[in-house]
Amino acid sequence: MTKMLIPDQIPLWPPADESISESIHAALEDGSWGRYSAEWSHDLAMELMDRHHQEHAQLCCSGTIGVEIALRGVGLEAGDEVLISAYDYPGNFRAIEQVGARPVLVDVRPDRWTMHVDDLEAATTSATKAVLVSHLHGDMAPVADIADWTRSECFYLIEDVCQAPGGIVEGMPVGSWGELCVLSFGGSKLLTAGRGGAVLMMDESVAQRITVFCERGNDAFALSELQAAAVSAQWEGFDRRHGVRLERARQLIERLGSSAPLQPQADFEAYFEPAFYKLGFFYHPERAGGMSREAYIEAMRGRGIPIGEGFRGFHRRSDKRCRKASSLENAARAAEQTVVIDQTLLLAEPDVIDLAAEILKSAD
Ligand SMILES: *Cc1c(COP(=O)(O)O)cnc(C)c1O
Repeated sequence: MTKMLIPDQIPLWPPADESISESIHAALEDGSWGRYSAEWSHDLAMELMDRHHQEHAQLCCSGTIGVEIALRGVGLEAGDEVLISAYDYPGNFRAIEQVGARPVLVDVRPDRWTMHVDDLEAATTSATKAVLVSHLHGDMAPVADIADWTRSECFYLIEDVCQAPGGIVEGMPVGSWGELCVLSFGGSKLLTAGRGGAVLMMDESVAQRITVFCERGNDAFALSELQAAAVSAQWEGFDRRHGVRLERARQLIERLGSSAPLQPQADFEAYFEPAFYKLGFFYHPERAGGMSREAYIEAMRGRGIPIGEGFRGFHRRSDKRCRKASSLENAARAAEQTVVIDQTLLLAEPDVIDLAAEILKSAD
């Protein structure tokens, strides 16, 4: 008989936590839901700054606009260049274009999804002003090394932490290494208000530029008090689930072994403690009887696994829109082979993880 997961075996997302419902009701009952930038927002901003060791916060309506706000904050001018991985969230490329700057594509590390620090030097010109780096699919970017380099060059480092709140690199939270970091509270994200985001930053001058950009008689990209109330009630569940996902990811990777079509990233957990919005793998068709990635994903979805493709990458983008610093071969490979499993599977019971591993190994 074909093995399958049934929907009941995978927790719903967003979680139906009592604390979230209580918090939203409290905001309704005390009338704070009708106010602008009031206590819920204030408390959320304080908690976010505290957790990411940042000095200022701008809550906003999405992670995508958060990245643009961060780029505005560093004061880019037309013709300035921003270094970005050739494998990243598509909105980040657009955000750089949106502020009138030019994306410069840097390769990712071999068998990983994050920026290759060795590529930065060669990508740099006198027009370089900032580096935008994302932590993706459970791979935490080498931000200690990147931050060393950006500081020595006096460039701004912006960390996109939308997929990785709770992750740790060399004992420090991701989002604390850059002069700025961006979070998302989108409906599928680890902290969620259905929509929403935040930009955190170190410098007063950056914070002021951001306030000026967002202020149009009112905050043009605001997070509502109701959204802030929803996120504020999630910290306990967030911390607990972070640990569960990590344990289940280890279990799944161990059960998959080395002959499964799905290969985990190199050096899993060697230098960092990952946070998982998605758990990424490289797909090897030769270990699945030559089945295409697309067909494998469709088959796995049919058997109840929450699985999908990774990003498409920017390596094929026209030279009119960006500059390519190297051959970008690792990014091209990541775009072609990446498969991501949704974090909800990592919240399932251990016996469900075992079953999921069996399913993922048997492609036919
Ligand atoms: C989800 C995501 C974003 C954008 O967040 P939204 O709130 O959905 O706009 C940005 N960067 C990365 C890496 C993401 O995963």
